[in-house]
Amino acid sequence: MFFKTLTEHFEKLEATTSRLAMMDILVHLFRETPPNLMDKVVYLTLGEVYPPYVGLEIGLADKLVLRAISLATGIQDSRVEQEYKTLGDSGLVAEKLLSTRRKAALFSQPLTVEKVYSTFEKMCRISGEGAQDTKIKLFAGLLTDATPKEAKYLSRIASGRLRLGVAEMTILDALAIAYGGSRELRDIIERAYNITSDIGLIAKALAEGGVDAIKSIRITVGRPIKPQLAERLSSLNEILGKLNGKCIAEYKYDGLRIQAHISDGTVLLFSRRQENITKQFPDIVEVLRKCLKAREAILDGEAVPVDPNTGELLPFQVVAQRRRKYDIDRYAEEIPVTLFLFDILYLDGIDLTVKPYLERKKVLETVIEETDRVKLAQYIISGNIEEIENFFHKAIQDGTEGLICKSILPDSIYEAGKRGWQWIKWKRSYRSEMVDTVDLVAVGAFAGRGKRAGTYGALLMAVYNPEKDRFETICKLGSGFTDEDLARLPEIFKPYLISHKHPRVESNMEADYWFIPAIVAEVIGDEITLSPMHTCGFGIIRPKSGLAIRFPRLIRFREDKRPEDATTTAEIVEMYRMQLKTIEEETSIDTTS
Ligand code: ATP
Repeated sequence: MFFKTLTEHFEKLEATTSRLAMMDILVHLFRETPPNLMDKVVYLTLGEVYPPYVGLEIGLADKLVLRAISLATGIQDSRVEQEYKTLGDSGLVAEKLLSTRRKAALFSQPLTVEKVYSTFEKMCRISGEGAQDTKIKLFAGLLTDATPKEAKYLSRIASGRLRLGVAEMTILDALAIAYGGSRELRDIIERAYNITSDIGLIAKALAEGGVDAIKSIRITVGRPIKPQLAERLSSLNEILGKLNGKCIAEYKYDGLRIQAHISDGTVLLFSRRQENITKQFPDIVEVLRKCLKAREAILDGEAVPVDPNTGELLPFQVVAQRRRKYDIDRYAEEIPVTLFLFDILYLDGIDLTVKPYLERKKVLETVIEETDRVKLAQYIISGNIEEIENFFHKAIQDGTEGLICKSILPDSIYEAGKRGWQWIKWKRSYRSEMVDTVDLVAVGAFAGRGKRAGTYGALLMAVYNPEKDRFETICKLGSGFTDEDLARLPEIFKPYLISHKHPRVESNMEADYWFIPAIVAEVIGDEITLSPMHTCGFGIIRPKSGLAIRFPRLIRFREDKRPEDATTTAEIVEMYRMQLKTIEEETSIDTTS
């Protein structure tokens, strides 16, 4: 397959803001792609070479891309750098300078997808001394054979900035259409993706072996499963109502979600967004190796920092420090973490995700030998409100955030990648003001004035609407930043800066700066209000009005979340309705007392 075919589709994708149009372009691309290349085409469309959990990226810094351009064109470094200063995008520099070449190299061959991909693969795998030079040479080799258009996209992929705005969910939709179009097929494809976290693998299996091949994809140790997520409700009454009167009420630990994959004593740890974080927790790896009474397993849990002297649970922020790349051993000693396991998804060849929760719990309890560092999450099984309330108070006293109430019905399977009503979190009694934080995506910014001149005065924040695959604005966030945070904002957002509103962003406001939706922040506010200025849930509660957060404050940036993991529009609408209900209840109590 010629690389040109791919870049022609990239150009069309780049030119559209409509999700439906994107889907049509992708369907067309997939139909043009030979089945054995489907995985490669999908990875490249996402600007990747491997699925993210593999942790291998080309990662050629802009400066090195410029050197390769200079090598391939014979144009001096200084001139290439000058162009970069004007254009601000190594892709545009490559396109412009390659088009000034008098003629293509003498023996150049049209680039193929196979050639591009295998070169990128090599570039990902090179390490050690002289790696950088070899990478530059390999890349310059590709540029030599490329047309200016191809060079633009090659440079963007190499520097990790393809930015076509294509979401994974849009690719799944397009795959379903290209191979049959039924709702059932879409669900099967999504499930396969959620249990493998590898969209290329799914695309290739579908292209080569159809639905049967997708259905036969199994959970595998080493490939992260997308985590099941929880809904929220304001009262225990409602929670029990949803869960048919009885549930497992489990401590809600405040730490870092970890999925542990163990096979014959080899342990891999994955984060909530399927990054390989094994190296950051050598102590957990060590104990997990010993505490499993089986050969292979996939376990789900939350790692929480503990005070080494008292054994008390410490706030989450402490474990965030462990995510730093340096001094890991020292941190492991100073701030030990305990992994609280609550679920098991796989054991010695058996897929447990399709079993009900109580059954999974039983298996977990028989195969894990608890130690100080690996424990089972505390829970009770109950349908008695008073008993669960008492357990909730104990949970708070023990330093957790509250409870997660989980279904024990026969259909309580592990819903990988889904936020559903099987698991419902219950933090504190929700009063009329917001007590729970939300996770929002930065989509733009406003220039700072006065003390904040030179940095951003506020960020434009958005929620995610998965039905529309759009980010809808909900507030301007200007509080809760330290002076240090503030000064660093332009630097943090530099890689995501774009000249126009991102196609997946819905905004009624004109920001001074626009970003690719990438960075997620946890935010608390005073309450949710109606606002015509914001697009979150526009028209759902009232015509011509969206929802906004009043007095939002930053709690922390959430590096463990992708933009699609942000709080959804539906959740905000639900929170707003809860708020109204609580206000009504409070007022009715007031009038009777
Ligand atoms: P989410 O992960 O649901 O998007 P979040 O990271 O903002 O949200 P919360 O909404 O407060 O966190 O709660 C859900 C998270 O709680 C889970 O993702 C998991 O990391 C954590 N957790 C702690 N204890 C448990 C438990 N017993 N069962 C399931 N999850 C738990």
